[in-house]
Amino acid sequence: MIIKEKHLLEGTGVVYRESPNHGGSFGPGLPDTIIIHFTAGESAQASVDWLCNPKSKASAHLVIGRDGSITQLVPFDRIAWHAGKSAYQERVGFNKYAIGIEIDNAGRLRKSGSQYTAWFGKAYPEEEVVEAVHRNESQTSYWHRYTNEQIAIVRDICSLLVDTYPISSILGHEEIAPGRKVDPGPAFPLDELREVVLHPNKADEGPLASRLG
Ligand SMILES: [Zn+2]
Repeated sequence: MIIKEKHLLEGTGVVYRESPNHGGSFGPGLPDTIIIHFTAGESAQASVDWLCNPKSKASAHLVIGRDGSITQLVPFDRIAWHAGKSAYQERVGFNKYAIGIEIDNAGRLRKSGSQYTAWFGKAYPEEEVVEAVHRNESQTSYWHRYTNEQIAIVRDICSLLVDTYPISSILGHEEIAPGRKVDPGPAFPLDELREVVLHPNKADEGPLASRLG
């Protein structure tokens, strides 16, 4: 996988489908941040369709399918619309600072009996469910599991982006819009991803590297 001219990803399993939902170019020294999201959707295709629909007024640079397939919607040098109202440290409005990666995942699930159900009504089997405490909450709840393919490809993409753009931080949507957003949630190894991608030499030695495969 490489980033070619015009700020587009090229490689096996990568498709480009341009979304009309984007702003202009990033300012000098930007993008310097990656924001990780889940789609809270039923399929990558449904999420791609929505993020390419002018009515959604939303987009992301990439959507990652359950099988690790990648759809790019906006070139990496353009501002996509994924962060919404957001703030972290001294900054507000993260779209102008950040590349957005959406991962196909149903999000928080509701347990009733032996069923785990997404907000859109689809049920998921127990092996696709993670019970964990969200970083912004104090009690456990149920979350749709990410696939190993997704975790591995997000790590590879983040490393590639760090090598290509002046990226110095990776944040979850839940960290720049706490109270409003819970993605990517506790099923995603966000702290480990930061460690492996932003401090690779340190992480090479430890067990985290093997967890992220
Ligand atoms: Zn999000």
